[in-house]
Amino acid sequence: MRLALDEAERAVRGGDVPVGAVVLSPDGTTVLATGHNEREATGDPTAHAEVLAIRRAAARLGEWRLTGCTLVVTLEPCTMCAGALVQSRVDRVVYGARDEKAGAAGSLWDVIRDRRLNHRPEVVEGVLAPECAALLTEFFRDR
Ligand SMILES: [Zn+2]
Repeated sequence: MRLALDEAERAVRGGDVPVGAVVLSPDGTTVLATGHNEREATGDPTAHAEVLAIRRAAARLGEWRLTGCTLVVTLEPCTMCAGALVQSRVDRVVYGARDEKAGAAGSLWDVIRDRRLNHRPEVVEGVLAPECAALLTEFFRDR
């Protein structure tokens, strides 16, 4: 999560909301890829931290399935990212702050653990939540 927080801070430089993500290898020892919000920087509405991180991890592994991998992100995934995470077949999603307004991993929806889906990654929430939330609060206060 510390790495994801570092990544989140990079988003601010491009004028983006500070959200950062990291994909860990199945044995948890290797960082396969990182990503931070780049919507403003790239003008791409889908350039959320999680989507960028899983795309890079898949490119590095040479296949779309991220079976066994863990995605760590500073903010609860939105519906788009929750869907992308299910599609990527990651085994675990770890997030920091809850997103009561748009979260799709337990807050507003629970897309990731929807029993109607075949693949349901494990969800761990609240890791370093105060730090993750503080970054966001600080960012929006400065706007
Ligand atoms: Zn998202």
